[in-house]
Amino acid sequence: MSNNIMEFRHVSQQFGNNVVLRDIDFEIEAGKFYTLLGPSGSGKTTILRLIAGFDQPTSGEIYFDGQQINDVPANRRQVNTVFQDYALFPHMNVAENVAFGLQIKGVKKAETDRRVKEALHLVQLDGYGPREITAMSGGQRQRVAIARAIVNRPKLLLLDEALSALDHKLRVEMQTELRQLQRQLGITFIFVTHDQEEALAMSDQIMIINDGTIQQSGTPVDIYDEPLNHFVADFIGESN
Ligand code: ADP
Repeated sequence: MSNNIMEFRHVSQQFGNNVVLRDIDFEIEAGKFYTLLGPSGSGKTTILRLIAGFDQPTSGEIYFDGQQINDVPANRRQVNTVFQDYALFPHMNVAENVAFGLQIKGVKKAETDRRVKEALHLVQLDGYGPREITAMSGGQRQRVAIARAIVNRPKLLLLDEALSALDHKLRVEMQTELRQLQRQLGITFIFVTHDQEEALAMSDQIMIINDGTIQQSGTPVDIYDEPLNHFVADFIGESN
């Protein structure tokens, strides 16, 4: 049996006359850290939206754990997303933000409290539960958003430019933390970035996308040492 948690087969996405994804095929192996890397406008967010179930593809098939899920709505997929702008609720404190998804699913209070505490511990925010979101720094807010996304242990975590709003020093720290968190949890991560160095530093596997097509998939070493075409060579070279 394959160990793939997700597969795209011949997936295309079109908005009006604008073809945004062109016949895309890829496989995501469970338990690894993947990065979807490409310039702005290349189609990264469009892919994440299809994985999360926010949109349906114009054509092609999407599989999760071996099941075709094209028509499965977002709230029935075991997939959570962390966004660049955190998307937290400013009128709730840290613990309430993290607990939100559990409460709407009817998880009991004692269990919710236990899981929130554990999630805050995993993102190094022990004791921050009662704090107001508005009193937290950018890096702390992104940690809260990550805690909220892992609290119900999804099978797949999507991170859309999740570190891009942070300053350089914090960003490098958070890269290491995210990588450690992924190993600790064993959840499959798909991290989206336009930053080559970030992709090379963090990933087990990188998929490079340009103009709606996957240009190359492989380990950071494969891609760095043997770029398949001029686009990949130039794009990766820009990080030097
Ligand atoms: P990236 O995340 O790599 O920056 P996107 O997936 O957001 O790229 O966008 C890829 C292309 O699809 C862009 O040209 C964008 O304008 C277009 N696009 C994305 N979403 C829509 C939409 N809902 N309607 C029309 N065009 C869209």
